[in-house]
Amino acid sequence: MIALTELLPLSDTLTPADQAELTQIVREAYVDATPIYPIGGGTSLDFGLAPRDAGLGLAMRGLKRVIDYPARDMTITVEAGITIDALAASLAKERQWLPIDLPNAHQATLGGVIATNTYGARRYGNGTMRDYVIGIAAVDGRGSMFHGGGRVVKNVAGYDFCKLLTGSLGTLGVITQVTLKVKPRPECSRFVACRVRNLQAADRLLESMVTTRTMPAAVELLIGPAWQNDAALGQLPAGEIGVVVVGFEGTEPEVAWMVSTLFNQWHRLGGNPVAVPDDQTEGLWTRLAQFPVEGSAALVIKASLRPSRTQNFIAGILQIDPSCDIQSHAGNGNVIARLSQFGSGGISNLLVGALQPAAVEHDGKVIVLSYNQPSELTRQAVWGSTGDAGSIMEEIKRRFDPKNLLNRGRFAYAG
Ligand SMILES: Cc1cc2nc3c(=O)[nH]c(=O)nc-3n(C[C@H](O)[C@H](O)[C@H](O)COP(=O)(O)OP(=O)(O)OC[C@H]3O[C@@H](n4cnc5c(N)ncnc54)[C@H](O)[C@@H]3O)c2cc1C
Repeated sequence: MIALTELLPLSDTLTPADQAELTQIVREAYVDATPIYPIGGGTSLDFGLAPRDAGLGLAMRGLKRVIDYPARDMTITVEAGITIDALAASLAKERQWLPIDLPNAHQATLGGVIATNTYGARRYGNGTMRDYVIGIAAVDGRGSMFHGGGRVVKNVAGYDFCKLLTGSLGTLGVITQVTLKVKPRPECSRFVACRVRNLQAADRLLESMVTTRTMPAAVELLIGPAWQNDAALGQLPAGEIGVVVVGFEGTEPEVAWMVSTLFNQWHRLGGNPVAVPDDQTEGLWTRLAQFPVEGSAALVIKASLRPSRTQNFIAGILQIDPSCDIQSHAGNGNVIARLSQFGSGGISNLLVGALQPAAVEHDGKVIVLSYNQPSELTRQAVWGSTGDAGSIMEEIKRRFDPKNLLNRGRFAYAG
């Protein structure tokens, strides 16, 4: 992993032990107008734009307590620096979980995951962090603590800060404490996979998921060398472009019924589905979660598109880099692509001139998750256009962080 000091221009890093100490640090930084960079597990500080102004690192790892876990209410209140693995271990004692796939779970923290609104394959059946954060406490850019939501699932009081802060990349507040809605752990999990010769064949199978009677947890299209010879999916013979993978979770009878129903559905469409062996199931979920952060591709992008247009966008990416690795959360219209060949002419040119217009053509947008020459990236290249939302976003930013101290220069805001 790249050292923190190479990713952020840190003059110093402080590790507050509790919320009161953190609030005091931000208050002092406000008086001195010192930029602040919250640091969770440090697993994705190279995503977004690299900041230029020196500032204070605020390491969140000291705030990792479980505050309250009324398991029968299926909610948990924790501090934001808790790692995803530690959170999962607490929930596992009551056979509950947060059904969001997250890479580097031993290191990534809940605050970082909320700040980046990270999600993976299970988004199809389970939604995103926005569906699970029901209460939040954070410290704004002046050092004032604010709260949103509460500890009960039905809570409609006040402005929905939970949704506002999810995905704000730590630019509106340092998240200190979170209440999550959680779910019972499913008793059984199984995958059905079907290799495809081309994108049209993939499209036929994926289209059939719209009318299927099954309820998948994940609907994925996997393309490229990363999946060519996979322990769970087997070897892709020459002439096959990739594999469509559908994950099911539930009780044993539910899953068995859904697996056989999908087998019949895909056979009728001329596919040749196979079941992923049970002893490979857990490993495949982990590989699906790890994909965005694995390997050494030069450029990693994420597009959010109209689901029915996903395959057209993928065709365009394959023209740019025929050997790129792709994971598409196809049911949701998301495409994560890891590219290494993209010709000359500059990265901004590729993004602003080709990939962003292609995404817009398919009713979506594309952002950069990482690029190995971050200094070449511009705001437009990384985040695309904010469109009509830009001025509203900037006004909200001014209200929460008038001196632009929190993660200055990293997100879609100007300045
Ligand atoms: C825009 C974006 C989109 C991403 N999308 C995906 C995806 O779709 N799939 C995927 O697998 N991975 C994705 N990632 C990677 C994902 O962010 C990491 O795997 C993980 O969620 C980061 O957790 P961390 O604790 O290591 O955070 P860090 O790497 O330490 O921090 C990440 C960001 O969150 C901020 N932050 C951290 N803690 C707090 C806090 N308590 N309060 C406020 N801000 C905080 C940091 O300042 C930083 O900006 C994405 C990253 C970014 C930037």
